[in-house]
Amino acid sequence: MAEAARRAEREVDRIDLTPRFTAADAVRLNNMFRGVDTSEMLRTVLGEQMVGDVALVSSFGAESAALLHFVAAIDPNVPVLFLDTGKHFPETLAYRDELAARLGLKDLRTLTPDAEVIEKRDATGLRWSYDPDGCCEIRKVVPLEKAMAGFDASITGRKAFQASTRNALPRFELDGDRLKVNPFANWTKADLDAYFVEHDLPQHPLVAQGYLSIGCAPCTSVVKPGEDPRAGRWRGWEKTECGIHTPIDDNDPNLPVF
Ligand code: SF4
Repeated sequence: MAEAARRAEREVDRIDLTPRFTAADAVRLNNMFRGVDTSEMLRTVLGEQMVGDVALVSSFGAESAALLHFVAAIDPNVPVLFLDTGKHFPETLAYRDELAARLGLKDLRTLTPDAEVIEKRDATGLRWSYDPDGCCEIRKVVPLEKAMAGFDASITGRKAFQASTRNALPRFELDGDRLKVNPFANWTKADLDAYFVEHDLPQHPLVAQGYLSIGCAPCTSVVKPGEDPRAGRWRGWEKTECGIHTPIDDNDPNLPVF
């Protein structure tokens, strides 16, 4: 009896080190939803809690309204995480507020960098100009990592067409031991444009000025005709992603076919 009680106590004390998700889970989900339309896929994933507790990460950029509308139509209570780096265009902050009200987002969370860290590592606010990776690290990557501690998966608005580095973007991918869900991975620009028209969604005000992908003001420029939509991000640097997403390897044998 005493031994049984000790055993039970030991079992309670044991720390569960099982990873939330593995690469096999991403492959399984990609296969499971191959050929399934986006709405049915996302309704099933959210409705059946297939990826656990999930948050939508949005930049409230050029195309964000489509995914925000898409998810809010299924469940407006899904937490929406917005990284306020302190470097956004004022138009982006206004657009965030406009969309949140219009779409009825019930759980918008604005994440800010740690003030002490900014004081120590970017007191002048110019780190973006000589070390954009370091700047993204303290203003985006770390705050998002902290916020994601309570979640098992994130939903992103990335699309394969946005850049050559995203050509092979899958719908589900492993992100540490979490999953990333990319519902629009195989959507085209025409699909998105049609979605905006169908649902009468407002455009980010800078799109009309030629900003096709919109991030922080110092690192975003107008895209020229024929360029990748993300060509205006970190122009002049090798950098293509801010660190919260990594470029997709086109040669990965586990990548799915839609
Ligand atoms: S996008 Fe530019 S300003 Fe924004 S966090 Fe990254 S380097 Fe800094």
